Amino acid sequence: MLKWKNEILIGIIPALLLFGLYKGTEYLPVILIAVLLIVAFFVVRLQRSGDAIGATGGKSSHKVSEQKPSYLKFDQIGGQDQAKAELMEALDFLIKKEQIAKLGIRPIKGILLTGPPGTGKTLLAKASAHYTNAVFSAASGSEFVEMYVGVGASRIRDMFKQVRLKAQKENKQNAIIFIDEIDVIGGKREGGQQREYDQTLNQLLTEMDGIHTKEEPRILIIAATNRKEMLDSALLRPGRFDRHIEVDLPDKKGRLSILDIHARNKPLSENVNMELIAEQTFGFSGAQLESVLNEAAIYAMRSNADILTKDHLGLAIDKVMMGEKTDREANEEEKVRVAYHELGHAILAEVVRVGSVSQVSLCPRGKALGYVRHNPPADHYLYTKTYIEGQIMIALGGAAAEEIYYGARSTGSRNDFEKAMELVRLMVDSGLTELGIVDIQMVPKKQFMDVNHAILDELMGSTKKILETYMIVFEQSLDVLMKEETLSGEQFRMMMRQIAS
Ligand code: ATP
Repeated sequence: MLKWKNEILIGIIPALLLFGLYKGTEYLPVILIAVLLIVAFFVVRLQRSGDAIGATGGKSSHKVSEQKPSYLKFDQIGGQDQAKAELMEALDFLIKKEQIAKLGIRPIKGILLTGPPGTGKTLLAKASAHYTNAVFSAASGSEFVEMYVGVGASRIRDMFKQVRLKAQKENKQNAIIFIDEIDVIGGKREGGQQREYDQTLNQLLTEMDGIHTKEEPRILIIAATNRKEMLDSALLRPGRFDRHIEVDLPDKKGRLSILDIHARNKPLSENVNMELIAEQTFGFSGAQLESVLNEAAIYAMRSNADILTKDHLGLAIDKVMMGEKTDREANEEEKVRVAYHELGHAILAEVVRVGSVSQVSLCPRGKALGYVRHNPPADHYLYTKTYIEGQIMIALGGAAAEEIYYGARSTGSRNDFEKAMELVRLMVDSGLTELGIVDIQMVPKKQFMDVNHAILDELMGSTKKILETYMIVFEQSLDVLMKEETLSGEQFRMMMRQIAS
C-alpha cells in the first residue's frame, strides 16, 4: 500500500509541474507546491522506514519476522536449568556495561544454542530479550537463501540496520537478533559452487566484527542449530559465536516442570499423576510434551469430557510417540505375523529388564502395524556394553520371532535393524568392540561391516535361543492379542512368570 502511495506521489509531481507551466502559472505557487510535495514525500519515506524497523526488509523482499516486545520470561521455560544459568551469565555482560568497560572485557557478540529440535532454543532467545530489556528480531537461516548472488548478504545488512533503527525508535540500549537454523547459511565454506552462501556468511561475519562495546544499541546475536559440527570455523572463533550452550532433551525433573507449565490452562482430573507422565515421556522434547497435553485435551473434547483424565493422557502419549491410530486393517495372516513379531520384542524386553513392558498392541499407529510400549528406564547417561547388547537384542526380537515361526523375515523389521545398527555404531564409537578405540570415520567400510555382522549375528543367535524357551508365552499371548488387540504389561508378565516358576 505504502509503495503505491509513494509511486503515485512521484508521478504527481512532474504532472502538476507540467500542467502549471502549460496553464502559464507563475513561478512562486509552483515552487510552493513543489516544496509541499517534497515534504510530503519525505514524510512518507520516514513512515516507511519506521514500519520497516524490525519487520520487513526495506527495499529487499526479506522478511525478518515481526516480533512484538517479548514478555516471555526465563521462569516460563521448564527445565533447562543449566542452559538458563549459562545464558543469564552471558547476558549479564550486556547489562553490566560499566563493570565490563572498567575491566576492559570484550563484549560477547554471539551465543550459539545447540541441541535437538523442540527443546526450547527459541524460547530461551526470547526470554533473553526480556531479561536484557532488548528489542528482539528473529529470522531463520533459510530466509537468507536465494538463488541470486548477493541477495542473502543484503538481507543480512538490512536485518542489522532495521534492528538498530527499531532500538532507537523504542529507546532501548540493547538489541537481540535471533537466527534459527544458522547451519543453513553458516555451513563450512568449501569455495567454488557456493558463492551465494559464502557471501551471506561473509556479510554476517562483517556485521559481527562491526559490533563495538560503546556502540548503542549493543547488538547480541543468538543463533541456534541442531548441527553444530556443520558450522564454519570462522563462525565459532573467539569474538564471534564463542559462547556455546547445550540445550538438551529434558531429564525427568525438567519434563515435569515443562508439563506443569503447559498444564496450567487445562483442567486436570485428580487421577492424573504428573510424576508418572514425566516418567513415561522419557526422551520427549519440550515441544513433544506440549503436544501431549494438547492432544490429551483434544481426546477429552472428543469424548465430551470437561476434564483431562489419565486415559486421555495415556492416549496422547501413544499418539505423540507412535503417531495417530490408522484405519489400515492388516489381514488375519498378517496380524498373526505382527503379533509374533511384537511378542518377540516384548519377551526380550522383559528378559533384559523385568517390568519394562507396559503394553503390547496390534492397533496400527503411524506406519507400524503393532507396537510394544515400554515403561521407560530411570534417566541415565552412561551405557555399558551389556546394556547396549540388551537393547540390540530387544530390537532383533521381532525378526528372530518371525524366523522361528516362519523360517524367514518380512519387511516389518526395517526400523528395528536401523536401530540395531545405530547401537552398533555407538559401540564402535565408544571403543566397546574388538576394533578397540578408533575414529569411526577412519575405519575402512569393509572392516566396519565385518564387525557389524559379527555383533549382529551373534546377538541374533542369542535372541533366538532365549525366545525358543518362551514358546508357551508366544502361544498364550497370541490368543489374547488376536481377540483383544492389546495385552497389558501385567497380563503379559503373568504368562512370563509361568516359565520362571
Ligand atoms: P527448533 O530447533 O526446531 O527450532 P527449538 O529448540 O527452538 O526448536 P522452541 O521453538 O523453543 O524449540 O520450542 C517449541 C515449543 O515447544 C515451544 O513453543 C513450547 O511450547 C515447547 N517447549 C519446548 N521447550 C520447552 C521448555 N523448556 N519449556 C516449556 N515449553 C517448551
